[in-house]
Amino acid sequence: MLNVDLHCHSTVSDGLLSPADIAQRAHQHGVQVWALTDHDEIGGVALAREAATLLGMRHVGGVEISVTWAGHTIHIVGLRIDETDPVLVQGLYDTRHGREKRAMEMSDMLAEVGIPNAFQGALAYVGNPDLISRTHFARYMVEGGYCSDVSEVFKNYLVEGKPGFVEHRWASLAHAIQWIRGSGGVAVVAHPGRYNLTQLEMSAFLDEFKQLGGAAIEVVTGSHTPDQFGEYARVAKRYGFLASRGSDFHGPGESMTELGSLPPLPPDLTPVWHDWF
Ligand code: AMP
Ligand code: MN
Ligand code: MN
Ligand code: MN
Repeated sequence: MLNVDLHCHSTVSDGLLSPADIAQRAHQHGVQVWALTDHDEIGGVALAREAATLLGMRHVGGVEISVTWAGHTIHIVGLRIDETDPVLVQGLYDTRHGREKRAMEMSDMLAEVGIPNAFQGALAYVGNPDLISRTHFARYMVEGGYCSDVSEVFKNYLVEGKPGFVEHRWASLAHAIQWIRGSGGVAVVAHPGRYNLTQLEMSAFLDEFKQLGGAAIEVVTGSHTPDQFGEYARVAKRYGFLASRGSDFHGPGESMTELGSLPPLPPDLTPVWHDWF
């Protein structure tokens, strides 16, 4: 069985390793088919492809697009995208816009609860000035001793209802799917078990995703519990979605799930890569 890992991050977004180092690590952990899926950014894809090719590892172009749907932030992964497609490039550029302003607002709010200079602090962790994310704030706040780890920072400060959370408007679902498909890629719902949607909202979302040309969902991901592997396997079958597998690796010591280390997809699903090779 192929070891496929189609979701991870580099320093081009909020990961801790460069695209070439992630490629090396994926290869070391037995990954045979690999995609780097940085948030809202394809700047690492060419480097990833080059590194993977040198290692003899199959590579597909990837991205993880932030979407606002019915007031919720949802992530849509694009696989086998062409990172030079001008509409995709422009769409992602527009999606990244506004991150800096949001970060300054987060910083002001954190200052009010006794955490000064968080913008400057987070910037020190940023690999790509276009892509300051909540993860960079979390790393800075762990370093400053405000929390003991990144997930505690999110829980106490960076999620809805907490003092460092700033509402943000990302791409629309329709645009994200259009950009991905327009560049030859397939649109995949990232970690569907992680969103705060009611059952009714989730089925409305999946209906709309499918109607707009979305084709796959992540079933086996580092963001799902083993129970959720089964739950979303059933969802994939019910909707006729292809299934994807990805660690969502961000870096050593920070991510619970190592590259290439998740269980295989349940055997009765059609993998998103079934007709790639
Ligand atoms: P942003 O795009 O700036 O909103 O940041 C989103 C990123 O924050 C996600 O891709 C994760 O890497 C990270 N993240 C979100 N929620 C959590 C959490 N509860 N614990 C750790 N990291 C999280
Ligand atoms: Mn991330
Ligand atoms: Mn995500
Ligand atoms: Mn991710």
